[in-house]
Amino acid sequence: MQYRGLLAQYRALLNLPAHTRPITLLEGNTPLIPAPHLAHELGGGFELFIKYEGLNPTGSFKDRGMTAAISEAAGRGVTTVICASTGNTAASAAAYASRAGMKSIVLIPQGKVAAGKLAGAVAYGAQVVQIDGSFDDALAMVVEISNKHPIALVNSINPYRIEGQKTAAFEICDVLGQSPEWLCLPVGNAGNITAYWAGFRQYNDLKWCGLPRLLGVQAAGAAPLVLGHPVEKPETVATAIRIGKPARGEQALEAADESDGRIIAVSDEEILHMQKILAKLEGIWVEPASAAGLAGLAHQVVHEKLDLRGKRIVAICTGHGLKDPDIVTKGLHQPILVAPRLDALEQVILGEGKAT
Ligand SMILES: *Cc1c(COP(=O)(O)O)cnc(C)c1O
Repeated sequence: MQYRGLLAQYRALLNLPAHTRPITLLEGNTPLIPAPHLAHELGGGFELFIKYEGLNPTGSFKDRGMTAAISEAAGRGVTTVICASTGNTAASAAAYASRAGMKSIVLIPQGKVAAGKLAGAVAYGAQVVQIDGSFDDALAMVVEISNKHPIALVNSINPYRIEGQKTAAFEICDVLGQSPEWLCLPVGNAGNITAYWAGFRQYNDLKWCGLPRLLGVQAAGAAPLVLGHPVEKPETVATAIRIGKPARGEQALEAADESDGRIIAVSDEEILHMQKILAKLEGIWVEPASAAGLAGLAHQVVHEKLDLRGKRIVAICTGHGLKDPDIVTKGLHQPILVAPRLDALEQVILGEGKAT
C-alpha cells in the first residue's frame, strides 16, 4: 500500500483535534541504518543503528512535528504561521505552510543560520526576518506576537509538534520489534527528547515494547541542562542546538531521569570528529548538531566506561549534512588541479612511481 504520511500512519495514536486537516509531504518512515563500522570503532560488541532523520522532505526531523502543527492550524482556518528558528524549523514551517496555502514568517538569529537552511526557508517562500539577538530572544518575540495577533505559533512549544515527533519512537519500535537499550540524540530546545520519551512510553503501554535509556547530548558551549542554569551567550558549531534556555528543559531532565539515562555535554571537537568518521566509516553525512548524540555515546564509552556489550543502541541523526556545507568546505584547499591528460591524472591518483 502506498505510504501516505505520518498522520495517516499513526493518527489514532496522536492527540490531535478533530478539525485537523492533513497537510503532508510524506514525511517520516525514515530508515534505521545499521552502523557496524562505527560500532567497531567504538569498541564493538554491540549493535548500533542510525535513525537517519536527515532524509525527511526538508532534510530534518522537524517535518514530523510540522505536519501535525500545520495540519491542526489548517483545520481551523489559520492563514499565517510564525516561528523562531536556528534554521531547520524555518525551512520545515515554510514548506508545510506553502503546501497548506498559508503565509509563513520565520525569525532567525543574525548570521548564525547554516546556508542550506536559510536557502530552504527562502526557496519555500517564507518571509525571513533576522534578529540582532539569539534564538532565545527570537523565541520570546514570536510567543508574544502570536498572543497578540491571529498568527499561529509552530515552534515546539506548540503541543502538536510534540505529537507529530512521537512518531519516530513508534517507527523505531515497529522496525526493531522492541525499543533499543539506549537512545542517543542531540538536545537543543529539548522538544525532540520530550517527544521521544512520550512516544516510547505510549507505545510501551500499548505494545509492551520496553523503554530505552535516554542519552541526551548538548554542546559544551550551549549546555544549560548540564550546567543547571541558562546560558546567556550560547556558542557552538552545532548551530541547531545553539540554545541557552531550552523551552522544554524541565521535561528533558525529567525524561532523562525517568528513563535512567542522562544529559551530558560534548565539545565541538568531539562533534566535528564524529561528523567526519560517521561519513567516512558509514557513508552517512549529517550536519554537526546531528552528530552530537553519537559524539555523546563515544564520550560515554571512552570517558565513563559505559558498558554496551550485547546492547542495541539507536542514535538519532536529526538533519542532513547538506544543510551546512560550509562546515566541511571552510578551510579546505581547492581540490588538486591537473592537466587534462591521462598521465597527469595517473600521477596524482596512482602515485609518482607508476605514471611515466
Ligand atoms: C532542532 C534540531 C535539534 C534539536 O532538537 P530540539 O527539539 O530543539 O532539542 C537537533 N538537531 C537538528 C538538526 C535540529 O534541527
